[in-house]
Amino acid sequence: MTATREDRTGELLELVLERNPLQRARLAGRDEVPLLEKGELVLDQRRHPPFGTNLTYPLDSYTQLHQTSGTTGPPLRVLDTADDWAWWRRLFADTLAVAGVRPDDRVALAFSFGPHVQFWAAKEGLLELGAMAIPLGGMTSVQRLQTIAEVEATSLMCTPTYALRLFEVAVENRLEAALESIERVICTGEPGASLAAVRSRIEECFGARCLDHAGLTEVGPFGYPCPEGGGMHVYDEEFDCEFLDPEARPVPEGERGELVLTPLRRTGFPVLRYRTGDVVVNSGERCPAGHDDRWLPGGIVGRTDDMVVIRGMNVYPSAIEEAVRQVSGPGEFRITFYSEPSGMDEIKLEVELSDGAAGRRLQDLMRQQLGLRVRVVPVAPGILPRQEGKARRVVDERASRWSET
Ligand SMILES: [Zn+2]
Repeated sequence: MTATREDRTGELLELVLERNPLQRARLAGRDEVPLLEKGELVLDQRRHPPFGTNLTYPLDSYTQLHQTSGTTGPPLRVLDTADDWAWWRRLFADTLAVAGVRPDDRVALAFSFGPHVQFWAAKEGLLELGAMAIPLGGMTSVQRLQTIAEVEATSLMCTPTYALRLFEVAVENRLEAALESIERVICTGEPGASLAAVRSRIEECFGARCLDHAGLTEVGPFGYPCPEGGGMHVYDEEFDCEFLDPEARPVPEGERGELVLTPLRRTGFPVLRYRTGDVVVNSGERCPAGHDDRWLPGGIVGRTDDMVVIRGMNVYPSAIEEAVRQVSGPGEFRITFYSEPSGMDEIKLEVELSDGAAGRRLQDLMRQQLGLRVRVVPVAPGILPRQEGKARRVVDERASRWSET
């Protein structure tokens, strides 16, 4: 007999109440588990360096240390026991298998060899599957292209931004042929690959399938691609899922909300009701292929910390990117939110475009699809900063930003 999810949630609660100092302190005297934010874990670690008190087992039980990338605040150290790391490995292997990776595949990992979990978890998952991992850390893009060509890599794992950048470098250096062996591009790390226009741009450039998956150092690899229906699935057996609005109320079906997760089997550094910051659609529907696991149509559609309110509208830079990719090539762009002297907030979009007409098309597209008035400024190729890892393409210069908090 398999344990139900309620059983597992109950077991997890019992375990952490008995053994985990941070969780015991958080849960004491409460009927409901409170939401957990990254900031709370960071603060705990600052008070109790170097690992904090969110530890269910003695320190010598832990074998893996990873660090969040720190793009939205100070980095957080996250520890895994051997059992928890085996869980990562199993889920990652599942994700890669769903994405089509087989034991005879050669998978190029365009990540740095750093403390972030992505590279290491991908490598473990490939080992579990029996596929070949090809590390591309510490290389220039040209060296990466040469390596891919020489070993005839069949798959590439990277951020969607980097996939487009690598293609651009290939074109600049007349190395497009280096990418011929690539059959699939497996993306993660930013919403890009879930956006239909970004995905089809990558597929067009590489002549390969583009698939998306999602994970966070704090919660684990929770989302795997649905190759038939598009979007992503959440491992229902492994994670308890909620969809909340900014006031922590459940959002109705069909609407966007923040994904809140409880990994049920990762117990060493547990997070209960963790606010992922990932914005998804609470669909409530089965995927078109009829798979059992919960379906996120469109995958991760944004980040809560990316959302900007402009003239009363919620604006996600990922939605602007979607429009950009429909019109422009793989070129760079930069979004600037700024205030007019009148106090009105405005959006400027600098973008590398092939011709002037494309700028007008883009402006129209954003007005129709997003209801946004955006000032489009075409720029010559090569002027905007190139993006390599997680993209930073948003500049916020609004006056109100400084008085809000
Ligand atoms: Zn599906």
